[in-house]
Amino acid sequence: MGSGRESFQGNGWQVCAQAAERHATLREEQTALWEADRVSWASEQPVTAWLASHLSLVPICDAHLPTATTDGRHLLFNATWSAGLDTQTRRFLQAHLVWHCVAGHLHTPRERERHRWHLACDHEVNALLLLLGLPLPEDAVLFPACIGRPLHAVYNWLDHFPGLERERNLDMVPATWAPYPADDTLFRRWRERALEIAMQYLGTPSLPGHVAAFLVTRQ
Ligand SMILES: [Zn+2]
Repeated sequence: MGSGRESFQGNGWQVCAQAAERHATLREEQTALWEADRVSWASEQPVTAWLASHLSLVPICDAHLPTATTDGRHLLFNATWSAGLDTQTRRFLQAHLVWHCVAGHLHTPRERERHRWHLACDHEVNALLLLLGLPLPEDAVLFPACIGRPLHAVYNWLDHFPGLERERNLDMVPATWAPYPADDTLFRRWRERALEIAMQYLGTPSLPGHVAAFLVTRQ
């Protein structure tokens, strides 16, 4: 009996160790892909590449984070979920999270309906990504009737959107949407980065005029 139990426990540890090793390998592999995506942007999307360089990649193997999010300092993503994405979708998700930061979406929303606010934020980011020439996956959030409208107008418009509860975000709400005090230093840094990158690429093909105007005037 005793030796059987030891043997079972021994096997259990082995299984755990093997699983930990598999997860470590998966995290390394996926991080390398997200890093390579940044390298590929260096010439094609230099604005997004520079903005992304301010966010550390944090691969996670935990069901509590089923997809990906950002806290303005890190991009946190589920490595198993990432492994199931095609290249275009993975690149889109990284750019999407980066632009949540620069668009000023890290603030905890004062609006009542968070799902609706996240959809409005997703729409705003994805409309910017389209202007930048980054392809969107088919299931990315975008409301063509709202392109060019300010964030609050999109939020209000969505109040009358049929089947709103069925609209799905591909990422999770920013990790900064929490009931602790706002990190004003972090928010100010992203405002400074928005201005800095706008000045650097203003009038170049890498930064369409509408996106430059958004960066300069964003709150
Ligand atoms: Zn989003």
